[in-house]
Amino acid sequence: MMITTTNTTQNNEVIPVNNAENNITSLAYAQHADEQDPLAKMREQFSIPKQSNGTDGYYFTGNSLGLQPKLARTAVLEVLDAWQERGVKGHFEGEFPWMPYHEFLTEQAAQIVGALPQEVVMMNSLTANLHFMMASFYQPSEQRSKILIEDHAFPSDHYAVESQLKHHGKSVDDNLLLWAPRAGEALLNYQDLWQIIEQHGDELALILLPGVQYYTGQVLDMQRITEVAHARGIKVGFDLAHAAGNIELSLHQWQVDFACWCSYKYLNSGAGSVAGCFVHQRHIENTELNRLAGWWGHDKSSRFKMENTFKPIPTAEGWQLSNPPVLSLAAVRGALDTVKLAGGMPALRKKSLLLTDYMITLIKTELGDKIRIITPENPAERGCQLSLMINVAGLDGKAMFTELEKNGVTTDWREPNVIRVAPVPLYNSFQDIYHFVRILKECI
Ligand SMILES: *Cc1c(COP(=O)(O)O)cnc(C)c1O
Repeated sequence: MMITTTNTTQNNEVIPVNNAENNITSLAYAQHADEQDPLAKMREQFSIPKQSNGTDGYYFTGNSLGLQPKLARTAVLEVLDAWQERGVKGHFEGEFPWMPYHEFLTEQAAQIVGALPQEVVMMNSLTANLHFMMASFYQPSEQRSKILIEDHAFPSDHYAVESQLKHHGKSVDDNLLLWAPRAGEALLNYQDLWQIIEQHGDELALILLPGVQYYTGQVLDMQRITEVAHARGIKVGFDLAHAAGNIELSLHQWQVDFACWCSYKYLNSGAGSVAGCFVHQRHIENTELNRLAGWWGHDKSSRFKMENTFKPIPTAEGWQLSNPPVLSLAAVRGALDTVKLAGGMPALRKKSLLLTDYMITLIKTELGDKIRIITPENPAERGCQLSLMINVAGLDGKAMFTELEKNGVTTDWREPNVIRVAPVPLYNSFQDIYHFVRILKECI
């Protein structure tokens, strides 16, 4: 039904609000927004898992595992075919020979994180890369031996850092500093970080923080943190698991020392796929840097001379160890081509802001204080993900998560009490969000 009303603005201009398209809570509004969306067609580039009734499910878990790009499937099949047809010659023959396969990914991966191509390499997995980076950038001395992380760091990062301390014979109690939200608050407060750096700056060897905090969705000010830390001689690394492919990054310009990210969340390269690693330009040619070496990091022209003197490639590739899993790199290639097809991060972020704004407005309008959004509302401080807490007496968040699942909505549950929903600009639509909020309201 079309309802005709008029709205009067402050300068008495009359705007007709005469159809459902202008009512943000209507399906017509979402349909109209999808029609206006220049990236709407990107959804066809993905396989969307179905609900039990055979229609497309409402998938909001791109923060955990991105959906399958059709180009990734094609690229993997190409590698399988090359292996079938060429055997070992696949290393050197064909359009995408395996020997330099990781090089086909570098330029696009570098664009996504705002780096120079020589600063980036796709290799290993995220936690493995954190260790390799710490082998180079955590070199404790008597004076400087501490590492600062956040109190609610992803467990793998926490374990990695503790084990690095132990590896160097440093006690965790004395050397691990934690930046925690204040009592009763969900978000990290910079005043507390500056104070820790002020107090312990001369003892800190490394600060390792997320670009986007996985639980709350809070984006950290990576540039400012790097500046403040460098002023005290502290190395800075970022875990970009939830940032790469989600927000715009300028790692090179921000002078970050190193960064690591996985490729299976917002970059849609498939579970456990090969990860990304960034080493700033000013470090890549420093062959004196300690590193855990392997033959794939050795100078390409002399690698097959099989000599025993390690000569690292003077780019981020110098940190590679093994010849990489090409089937997985192929998936990454298809996934990165998909991001490129969409116009890269500026185009994705532009849509992402509209999608998440719409989700926030709709949740507030339809559910009021029944839902608490712990993610910062300021667009500069969040990516696409919203972390929701159910704020209804007697209603358990975990039960709500299960109920959503039964109704075709895939979200993810994180202990102790958060439902994370990530509308992803590559394949989510405004109508997906409309249906999510409608179903959430019905479930409550
Ligand atoms: C997803 C994620 C991981 C996962 O690590 P893997 O080594 O890829 O298994 C680690 N850290 C953070 C912050 C993450 O979000």
